[in-house]
Amino acid sequence: MTFTPLVGDFYQLESQLSQQEQEFLLALRTYLETEVKPILADHWERAEFPRSVVAGLAASGVLGMAAHETAAFPTSAVFRGWVCLELGRIDASVATFVGVQNGLAMGSIEICGSPEQRAEWLPGMGRGEIIGSFGLTEPLSGSDSARGLRTTAERRGDVWVLNGEKRWIGNSTWGDICIVWAKDVADGQVKGFIVPTETPGFTAVKIENKMSLRIVQNGHITMKDVEVPARNHLTGANSFADTAKVLRHTRGEVAWESVGVAMGAYEAALAYAKEREQFGKPIAAHQLIQDLLVKSLSNITASLALVREASIMYDAGTQRDEHASLAKLSATTLMRETVAMCREILGGNGIVTDYDVARFFADAEALYSYEGTREMNTLIIGRAITGHAAFV
Ligand SMILES: Cc1cc2nc3c(=O)[nH]c(=O)nc-3n(C[C@H](O)[C@H](O)[C@H](O)COP(=O)(O)OP(=O)(O)OC[C@H]3O[C@@H](n4cnc5c(N)ncnc54)[C@H](O)[C@@H]3O)c2cc1C
Repeated sequence: MTFTPLVGDFYQLESQLSQQEQEFLLALRTYLETEVKPILADHWERAEFPRSVVAGLAASGVLGMAAHETAAFPTSAVFRGWVCLELGRIDASVATFVGVQNGLAMGSIEICGSPEQRAEWLPGMGRGEIIGSFGLTEPLSGSDSARGLRTTAERRGDVWVLNGEKRWIGNSTWGDICIVWAKDVADGQVKGFIVPTETPGFTAVKIENKMSLRIVQNGHITMKDVEVPARNHLTGANSFADTAKVLRHTRGEVAWESVGVAMGAYEAALAYAKEREQFGKPIAAHQLIQDLLVKSLSNITASLALVREASIMYDAGTQRDEHASLAKLSATTLMRETVAMCREILGGNGIVTDYDVARFFADAEALYSYEGTREMNTLIIGRAITGHAAFV
């Protein structure tokens, strides 16, 4: 197979990857374009997740790429970023599913779990046989989850008892386990637990009527005296600082996904502009349409350079929270502007899902807000550059 550069990768940065990495990405791209893309619009309309893709994603090797227990070969954060971009370029919901499974659920076990916990859970998750979710946000605590969690965990003998509610939890309505973050009543610290969703007292109800990421199944979780064995407490998840380690890793990947979403919208808009004729010539030949296309490409190219640099820092061990925050904040802000310009290029057809741009346009809104809103990431960066925390 010959590696073909993406139309939206103007400086052809992906071509700098190794041959093994390029072959992996090309196989993934081929799978996504031939098997996944054709079923997206229908599932988006029906707000259903196409579960058939789980086996395909597992077979293509994207689940569990970061963990040595599950990765087919050692991967860098830069390469995993390109995987996120390739996923986002086809669909933000599929990218989000992988982000939750890989980054949030497996990532929590990988970063905070003991060797025994890693061995017990990661291989099955990497094969797509165990689907995970990540329960941090609550109905009354979103941006302030570092201090505002109400869900409690109480150690009673050899079990932990969890009580509380979680909101927006992706994959939780149909997944097998949820990583639940709860405050230990004994010391007030946030701790992480692996909770099988079939545990008595655990219920997850699908959140309906979404206008963004309709394919992703987000759940409202209620936990009433949910008992989990003591060995399901993630041994390295004992304060919110441990939760933050997981989020720093995933924030960078959401930034890459958002570049992919912008790229998917741009490529669709460019193809449309070359086909669609008005005033006797393709709209691509009109100066104002070229302006929208070039602004879009400029946003994508700038974001790509930024997220790549942030991942190089991650691989070098020099990335801090504010670096991941700047990548997420900037890439999602530019994505939001880009998908709006691409939607504009399609005129009326930009608001129907028959053309991919409407889906990218709507889905961008969720990426803009989840994993830290623009405001929260601004405050994280603001604290780093001024020395003043302005959260409250
Ligand atoms: C589609 C989707 C999927 C999600 N998936 C998951 C998941 O799998 N797991 C999970 O745990 N969570 C998930 N979330 C939750 C997501 O992380 C939160 O929505 C996000 O953190 C914001 O919290 P909130 O919605 O409660 O908004 P709020 O915290 O209520 O914020 C509302 C507004 O106020 C602003 N704001 C808040 N505090 C300040 C301040 N101090 N200064 C200035 N502005 C402020 C915010 O930036 C925002 O604009 C998901 C959300 C969505 C929409």
